[in-house]
Amino acid sequence: MSTIAWIGLGHMGAPMAAHLVSAGHTVRGVDPVPAARDAAATRGIQVVDTVAEALQGADACLTSLPGPDQVRQVYGGGDGVFAHAVAGTLLLDTSTVDVGTSRWCHDEAAARGLAFVDSPISGGTAGAEAGTLAVMLGGHPDHLARARTVVEPMARAVIDCGEATSGIAAKLANNMMLFISVMAMSEGSQLAEHLGLDPHVFWQVVDASSGQSWAQRTWYPVPGVVPTAAANHDFDATFSADLARKDCGLAVQAGEATGVNLPAARLALEQLERLAAEGLGGKDCTLVAKYASPDGTL
Ligand code: NAD
Repeated sequence: MSTIAWIGLGHMGAPMAAHLVSAGHTVRGVDPVPAARDAAATRGIQVVDTVAEALQGADACLTSLPGPDQVRQVYGGGDGVFAHAVAGTLLLDTSTVDVGTSRWCHDEAAARGLAFVDSPISGGTAGAEAGTLAVMLGGHPDHLARARTVVEPMARAVIDCGEATSGIAAKLANNMMLFISVMAMSEGSQLAEHLGLDPHVFWQVVDASSGQSWAQRTWYPVPGVVPTAAANHDFDATFSADLARKDCGLAVQAGEATGVNLPAARLALEQLERLAAEGLGGKDCTLVAKYASPDGTL
């Protein structure tokens, strides 16, 4: 069994790392937030204070960080991953970042003789808890088979997407589709309700019909309809509006960089920005459903 360093023990990181513990690995985790550290410790993760301690003798190091700024800081900082990793340590970033940041990780790792694989994930906190994530791998073919072995305990599907940054490219396009489908689900759920339909009945109709989506199955924004929805818990975040805004914004930027027209993604981004402007960026992204409601509340 291996020793694994894990940096970032949040909504996704802690349950993913816990699957590696269950698979028999020793996992040493780092997070600056006391509540995250305590929760991780209850999952069998050995919580340490520094990246250097986590990396001591580690066969692999995984990161699960909020976004590009934290990834550049955690990899490139003085007490960072690049400063303390050794040649045999496989580096995997599961965070959602822009293609440029992922490219930077690959280039900086290669310049130091280190192996890096972009390894973003899909499936939400429910998938992280259940160990049923999709993992999208991008990197040198020599490193992909090893990366697959590391992430398999937390995944239902591990997909080799190709060369460096292809995993993160797939993730950005996928999540853009997700947030557009969140908008569709938000508007559909509100229209059905205000046409007088029982939400449970309408959900069953959609689930058996052409409006069906992962968002509708997992995140339906009406309390009591699906057990994994944030709507059941006053929209406490399973996937925060701030993270969704980041992901959608990265996709819109990628569209600008490639000349691809993304009007629906821009509309989704506007709704997520409205939540942030109201001070609700820490709530769940599915709270955007309130903007479809006639009085702006749910
Ligand atoms: P989160 O905010 O719950 O977790 C991020 C963790 O990183 C936090 O605990 C934070 O304290 C920690 N952190 C921040 N700076 C750090 C540092 N310098 N060193 C160590 N730890 C640090 O976010 P999350 O929902 O777990 O998402 C993590 C990543 O996974 C994001 O990039 C997100 O876009 C992506 N993602 C999230 C979901 C989801 O459903 N939540 C799904 C797929 C992908």
